[in-house]
Amino acid sequence: MDMVSEETTSICNHCDRAIPSVNIDLHYAHCSRNLEKCKVCGDMIPRKHAEEHYLNTHAPPELAVIVKTLGSILILPVNSLPGM
Ligand SMILES: [Zn+2]
Ligand SMILES: [Zn+2]
Repeated sequence: MDMVSEETTSICNHCDRAIPSVNIDLHYAHCSRNLEKCKVCGDMIPRKHAEEHYLNTHAPPELAVIVKTLGSILILPVNSLPGM
């Protein structure tokens, strides 16, 4: 039995994954528009979840609480907030 296991793949410049060559253009367009690399852990994160990922994964808990309270993303150390 000859299995055709040889699939031509290209490496996506954005996420470094091997993508079937037939899909690479589409993938890259989607990938570069929607994914961004986490500066801390290097994971590919959907752009709209990048801040959430940062807060959930890398930010200290007290920081995340502050951000949720304010309802917007402010990467600030606790003691640098005015009036605290
Ligand atoms: Zn990609
Ligand atoms: Zn990360």
